[in-house]
Amino acid sequence: MTADSAEAFALGQDEIAALRKQLRGPLLLPGEPAYDEARSVWNAMIDRRPTLVARCLDVGDVVTAVNFARDHNIPLSVKGGGHNIAGLAVGPGLLLDFSLMREVQLDPAARTARAAAGCLLSDVDQATQVYGLAAPLGFVSTTGIAGLTLGGGFGYLTRRAGWTCDNLLSLNVVTATGEIVVASAEENPDLFWGLRGGGGNFGVVTSFEYRLYPVGPEIYGGIRFWPAEDAPAVLDLYRTLVASAPPEQVCVAFLRFAPPAPWLPPEIHFKPVVGILICDTGPLADAAERAAPIKSFGAPLGDVLQPRTYLSQQSLLDATQPPGRRNYWKSEYLPRLEPALLERAIAHARRMVSPYSAIILFPIGGALNRLPEGHSAAGNRDAAFALIIACAWEDAAADADNISWVRSTWRDLRAFSTGGTYVNFLTAEEGEERIRAAYGPNYARLVEVKRRWDPENLFHTNKNIVPRPA
Ligand SMILES: Cc1cc2nc3c(=O)[nH]c(=O)nc-3n(C[C@H](O)[C@H](O)[C@H](O)COP(=O)(O)OP(=O)(O)OC[C@H]3O[C@@H](n4cnc5c(N)ncnc54)[C@H](O)[C@@H]3O)c2cc1C
Repeated sequence: MTADSAEAFALGQDEIAALRKQLRGPLLLPGEPAYDEARSVWNAMIDRRPTLVARCLDVGDVVTAVNFARDHNIPLSVKGGGHNIAGLAVGPGLLLDFSLMREVQLDPAARTARAAAGCLLSDVDQATQVYGLAAPLGFVSTTGIAGLTLGGGFGYLTRRAGWTCDNLLSLNVVTATGEIVVASAEENPDLFWGLRGGGGNFGVVTSFEYRLYPVGPEIYGGIRFWPAEDAPAVLDLYRTLVASAPPEQVCVAFLRFAPPAPWLPPEIHFKPVVGILICDTGPLADAAERAAPIKSFGAPLGDVLQPRTYLSQQSLLDATQPPGRRNYWKSEYLPRLEPALLERAIAHARRMVSPYSAIILFPIGGALNRLPEGHSAAGNRDAAFALIIACAWEDAAADADNISWVRSTWRDLRAFSTGGTYVNFLTAEEGEERIRAAYGPNYARLVEVKRRWDPENLFHTNKNIVPRPA
C-alpha cells in the first residue's frame, strides 16, 4: 500500500517544511526512519500509510498538528498505544502520534495521577505501584491508556471501581478550534461526559487525571489450566463462584489452546484447555482462601496461582497478545452467566480453527452497575460480564476460516447479550448500527456533544458519532 501523497491533499513542500519547523517533535514522511514504526498498529490486518506523522512532544505540538490538519483540510488521526482492533489510530493524511508523551505525575497523598496521553498501561502501573496505588486499567500492559479510557475501559479493578472512565477526575483537551480546555465535573461538563466513553470524537486529549486505589504491591493472582474435556465441570464451578465473589476477586474464564508458556509441559502446548485466571486485590490470606475451591479442583495441567506483585499480574497475559498477528473479535455484554451459554460456548470452542483463538468471560459487575446509565457516555450499567470471541492468526490465507468461526460463534452466543457491546472491541466493519448498540440510550446525547465540540467532524478516525441530528 502506498501513502497518500502530499499532492493528493494539495500540500506543498514549503507547507510541510513550515510544519516541521513549528513542531518540537519530529515530523516523519514515508521512507524516513521511524515512519513505519510510527504508523504500525497492533492488528496486522490494518496497514495504512499516512502522508505525514507528527510525533508530538508537548501540548503545543498537539495544537500545531490539529490546526494544520484543519486549516489544510487533510484527514487527522490520533494514535495512543495503537491497540485498537479496528486500527482506528491510523488514517490517511496527518497522523498525530503520542508515543513520545509518556509522563506520569503522581500525588500519592491525594491518590491521584495525571498521565500523558501516550502512556501505555505499564507506564501508569509502574509509577503508581511505587506507592502501592493503581488506576483501574485493563488486562494487557502494552495497551494504550488513551483509547482504553476514552472508550470506557475495564480490567482487574473494575468490579471495585467501575469503568476506567468512571475514575477520571479531569482531562486536558485540544479542541477542533485548537483551544486548550479542561474537561471535568466543574469545567465543560458536557465535554467531560462525552469523553468518558465517547472515544476521541470531541477533541484530542493530552492528559488524563485518574483517581487511584490502594492495590498490592502484592496481590493473589495467576492462572490455572485443565484439559478441555473438564470444561463443563470447570465452568460450572466458575459460574457458582463468581456469583458470590466479592469485588476484590476477579476470575476470568478462558476456552482456548494452551500457550507455549515455560510453566506448562511442552506436550500440552497448543492443546485445547479451559482456564481460570484470578486477580484478587483483597488481603492475601482472604484471597488465598477464596481461591481454594479453584486451587484444589480436579487435576490441572499447570497452575501459577500464587501471591505475586500486581505488576506481574498486569503483564501476565502480554506474551499471549503480541503485535503483528491478524486479529478479528466480536464481543457482547452479558447480564449474567446462563448454564446454556456456557454449554454453547464449550461446543463452539471445539470448532476453533487457529491456535490463538479464545472464548473469554470477564466479570465486570459491581461498582459500574451502581451508577445511573447516563452517568457517563460509557453507559452499559446492566453489564455483569464481557464476552469476547477472539481470534488471531498469522497467514492471510486463513482469514476467511477464522473470521467465519468468530462470526458464527457470535451469532449464536449474542442471544445471551444485554444488547450492548464494547465500543473498543468493535472491528473495522462494524458501523453505525453497532456504535448505537454500544451507546444505547446515551447515543442521542453524544450527538449533541459532538455537534457542540466538533460540528465539522475533524475528529472522525474513531467509532464516529456523526454530528447530525440524532
Ligand atoms: C491485546 C489487547 C488487550 C486489550 N485489553 C483490554 C482490556 O483489558 N480492557 C479494555 O477496556 N480494553 C482492552 N483492549 C481494548 C482497548 O481498550 C482498545 O484497543 C483501545 O483502543 C486501546 O487504546 P490505544 O490507546 O492503544 O488505542 P489506539 O489504537 O491508539 O486508538 C484508539 C482510538 O482512540 C483514539 N485516540 C487515541 N489517543 C487519543 C487521544 N489522545 N485523544 C483522542 N483520541 C485518541 C484514536 O484516534 C482511535 O480512534 C485491549 C486491546 C488489545 C489489542
